[in-house]
Amino acid sequence: MQPVQHRNLKDENGRIYCCLRNKVVKLDEKQKGDFCRGCSMFAGDADGQGVDCVWEDLRAVADPHIVRDPAKEWMSNQMKHIWPPTDHLSTCMVYPS
Ligand code: SF4
Repeated sequence: MQPVQHRNLKDENGRIYCCLRNKVVKLDEKQKGDFCRGCSMFAGDADGQGVDCVWEDLRAVADPHIVRDPAKEWMSNQMKHIWPPTDHLSTCMVYPS
């Protein structure tokens, strides 16, 4: 599986989908400082429009994968695994740097 560039563009409320936290978050200075700065998936600021995150994606998505709707992206990243049967995990996979 190849790493995919995810270009997360901020929505009208300044939010993006964060793979590390597996949630929709506001891309503010706190998010950038507390999470993005030390994140191995960080790959840029999407030309000032959001954040680029590179990770191996289990879904069949384009590369780069452009994300404009963070809630829809979050939903798309939830995946039910067969074992254990009740687990719901993100499809995000961090690759070694
Ligand atoms: S760089 Fe990491 S912490 Fe920042 S939004 Fe992407 S996945 Fe989340």
